[in-house]
Amino acid sequence: MAQYEKILLRNMEQPGYRGSLHEYERTGGYQALRKVLRDLSPAQVIEAVKNSGLRGRGGAGFPTGIKWGFVPKDHPGPKYLCCNADESEPGTFKDRQLMERDPHQLLEGILIACYAIGAPVAYIYIRGEFRLGAKILERAIEEARGAGYIGPRILGTDVGIEVYVHQGAGAYICGEETALLESLEGKRGLPRFKPPFPATHGLYQKPTVVNNVETLCNVPHIVNRGAEWFASIGSPPKSTGTRIFCLSGHVKRPGNYEVPMGVTFRELIFELGGGMRSEKPLKGFIPGGASAPFLTPDHLDVKMDFESVAQAGSMLGSGGVTVMEEGTSMVWAALRLMEFFYHESCGKCTPCREGSSWILQILQRIWAGGGRPGDLELLEDLCKNIEGRTVCAFGDAEVSPVLSTLRYWRDEYEALIHQAEATRTTKGEIPVLTM
Ligand code: SF4
Repeated sequence: MAQYEKILLRNMEQPGYRGSLHEYERTGGYQALRKVLRDLSPAQVIEAVKNSGLRGRGGAGFPTGIKWGFVPKDHPGPKYLCCNADESEPGTFKDRQLMERDPHQLLEGILIACYAIGAPVAYIYIRGEFRLGAKILERAIEEARGAGYIGPRILGTDVGIEVYVHQGAGAYICGEETALLESLEGKRGLPRFKPPFPATHGLYQKPTVVNNVETLCNVPHIVNRGAEWFASIGSPPKSTGTRIFCLSGHVKRPGNYEVPMGVTFRELIFELGGGMRSEKPLKGFIPGGASAPFLTPDHLDVKMDFESVAQAGSMLGSGGVTVMEEGTSMVWAALRLMEFFYHESCGKCTPCREGSSWILQILQRIWAGGGRPGDLELLEDLCKNIEGRTVCAFGDAEVSPVLSTLRYWRDEYEALIHQAEATRTTKGEIPVLTM
């Protein structure tokens, strides 16, 4: 089995490492912050992150340095950095580990990002259920403040940065960056229309960068080891660095695996993950969290980088890889995911609010033995009227399990509908053609 250098998980995989300030400093922690404050201008930090090719690890994969570069340099008022720690995508559990096991790595990334964009304040918006993570981060912030890394005059310079933890209330939509900002402002978490974008009109309508936890954790390493080093890892030029993939489902060894971008799904599932749990063949998998369209065993040799997964018809998304064995009903899988999306739709726009309910009702009916001819066409029509027609990307996400399971396992839907029809005919009922 290939061995890969761990970057983000390196410290926490050392025996006995508990993520305290002293332990973090012993492994070279906060040297990148010192270097930045001593030797680099904010523009040089942004340039280094641009040159590294780092892209967001939360889902959209937007280039981080370019995002930082959008923040106006001469803005007279406050600017903000928001760390998106609202990890709620089903099948994704890497940010939680990064926060709980090595909180100073994240704090150092946040402080460097704040310096680069000129933000005196950072908020860590953490998922409400992550109470332990919030507590650990609060403690780490106090430790860092005591050591002079956070506060009004960091390490004796005239740079001042404060970091606050803000706990969410458990809404999936608050992982969407503008809904997160609304929530942080004390309002109901509803996505905003874009443009304007947060880089100019973000928190309290001030210039704001929203970055994911894993994204920010990469920053100290880029500063310490250089943009070129980072850009040489993975699948350059568009998918550089490592990625933490969250492997779950019917595999022998589920867990978080940090590997260079570009390893194949086969390697992740069958080598690192030990293969199928029950020795049944693989039936399908979700390659990037619940929002990503399903893939099949034919896609096992697809490289896990942004472009290759997109070419295969899905997306790398949040890095959550959920594996399903032969025998799993894909109608059931789509139904369970749709239950989640229906529950989490924020209700702001009609196609998503109403459409998710209609799709769910049809799936429930098919699964319960009440499928009708025309249901699949109706499902597809509903999905097409949601996709691309909503305020935020949630609309595209919620139709992807339905459309992709219809694409690859349509026969399972048809079998359930035929079975329902046969039962109705036996009972002397007239098959119903519409919803
Ligand atoms: Fe809300 Fe769904 Fe519209 Fe997004 S797509 S704004 S989640 S109703």
